Amino acid sequence: MPAHPDVTVNGRAYPWPRVPAVVICLDGCEPAYLEIAMARGLMPTLAAMRARGTFRTAHSVIPSFTNPNNLSIATGRPPAVHGICGNYLYEPETGQEVMMNDVRFLRAPTIFSAFHAAGARVAVLTAKDKLRALLGAGLSFEDGRAVCLSSERADQTTASANGIADASRWLGRPVPPVYSAELSEFVLAAGVKLLAEWRPDLMYLSTTDYIQHKHAPGDPVADAFCAMVDGYLAELDAMGAAVVLTADHGMKPKHHPDGTPAVLYAQDLLDGWLGAGAARVILPITDPYVVHHGALGSFATAYLPEGADRAAILARLLAEPGIEVAIGREEAAARFELPTDRIGDIVLTSTGGMTIGTSAHRHDLAALTEPLRSHGGLTEQAVPFILNRRLDLPDAPALRNFDAFLYATTAAAL
Ligand code: ZN
Ligand code: ZN
Repeated sequence: MPAHPDVTVNGRAYPWPRVPAVVICLDGCEPAYLEIAMARGLMPTLAAMRARGTFRTAHSVIPSFTNPNNLSIATGRPPAVHGICGNYLYEPETGQEVMMNDVRFLRAPTIFSAFHAAGARVAVLTAKDKLRALLGAGLSFEDGRAVCLSSERADQTTASANGIADASRWLGRPVPPVYSAELSEFVLAAGVKLLAEWRPDLMYLSTTDYIQHKHAPGDPVADAFCAMVDGYLAELDAMGAAVVLTADHGMKPKHHPDGTPAVLYAQDLLDGWLGAGAARVILPITDPYVVHHGALGSFATAYLPEGADRAAILARLLAEPGIEVAIGREEAAARFELPTDRIGDIVLTSTGGMTIGTSAHRHDLAALTEPLRSHGGLTEQAVPFILNRRLDLPDAPALRNFDAFLYATTAAAL
């Protein structure tokens, strides 16, 4: 019998799944969270998947931030293709910093919209609403084959805009606080219910990293989170879905021994060298929800004044303790597969224990109630890549988190 043809999107061909293909993106899941929880017997399902399935480490895209990686997983391609390279974009022509969470910034179709157009049933569930519109780009809800909603706004969903009316009532769970483990749990619980009652062909479950920003691997709260995830994983696995578990990025401690945040203030440095406000440092991690990281991550880009000696500035920045990478726009675009027109003249990443800020007075560190943990650079690039079926995954080129749907659909088509 001829199989359903592959779905080709953004230059990659995805097999048509025979059983539901599910990808879980555990936001900020440094591999150590899972390793410790498994060693303590808190993730028996994941341990079983390791034994009988495929257990690997993959690389996230750089910047190792939430939106660029979620859109890479959703499109199967790096930011150079889909255009979303952070939460913020600076437009030198207007001098404006604009949020990049609007669909007009997305330059590539998602795998979800391509499968939906080919006749598949598609479900996309996120914790924070900021991602929902981007991930839902191109989906239509008229014929009842798409669901796209966030737990943050689950009580405001409608059939015509989200595929389910009042998802909070549908699931029988109140909308959780935006800073909570329950915001992520809602996504997984809704995913289990949808798989049981609605049987999507493709499903994406994307959580939030509030817990990982506050709690190190092995911490009781982090362990409880992992155990919670494992319970839902067991249900998804038992229903016969092909499940890939990966992450948008890792998470590292970014504080001094006394608990104060480790920050290199790049705007202050450049102001000292070039004059106040001559250069403009952009932190693409900045978003409306900064309580857990104070807008401090391990990646920055900067626009330099006309005539600035870029090579000399890069050399000076590289000499600063805590700077791991300081490169020009063209090299950054090539090395990290970024859209050239959406990054500044230079790109910086910091080392494992350091973050990059703008100016000291512009970060509200009082909101940080725990020692800072964050992400954005190369040191948060390693993420788990775990599949509940055995597949021979290639070693080269490096496995990427945005290969998740390729291998989920491949496994689901077997
Ligand atoms: Zn994230
Ligand atoms: Zn984060």
